Amino acid sequence: MQLKGSCHCGCVHFTVRSAHPYPFNQCYCSICRKTAGGGGYAINLGADYSTLHVEGKKYISVYQAAISGPDTGEHIKSRGQRHFCKMCGSALWLWDPVWPNLVHPFASVIDTDLPVPPERTHMMLRSKPAWVEVQAGPKDQLFEGYPQESLAEWHLRLGIEDRNE
Ligand SMILES: [Zn+2]
Ligand SMILES: [Zn+2]
Repeated sequence: MQLKGSCHCGCVHFTVRSAHPYPFNQCYCSICRKTAGGGGYAINLGADYSTLHVEGKKYISVYQAAISGPDTGEHIKSRGQRHFCKMCGSALWLWDPVWPNLVHPFASVIDTDLPVPPERTHMMLRSKPAWVEVQAGPKDQLFEGYPQESLAEWHLRLGIEDRNE
């Protein structure tokens, strides 16, 4: 489906096509939580980077978080490029050069009506502060770190991939 999104102040508008538009993937990591998730988590979607069309590019800034390296624990720059509006601060999407064909818009800036997910994934729970209570439905999956299942595999398993994309 075609997704339309915008930041809060309206300087940035974008469209992108997505075969995986269900907003099911709740990430509680500190980066998502602090930059895009006031309620304790952010939700990102899977979309096709080659179809991303942006108006207001000059208002976009990119944040690459400092994270601990997997081997040494030293601080390195995250590959993930978090795009946000520098006028109003809205988190827009994440793009990672390791998966250059994908882009991950945050559900919070999508203006198109999104489908309601039949179940949800709660991930990076080890980064969650105690005050954030996980509100898990009976079919939801909980992960301390990253799940094995990708956004695309989740849609495939539930048979709700948008095959026209
Ligand atoms: Zn803005
Ligand atoms: Zn996260």
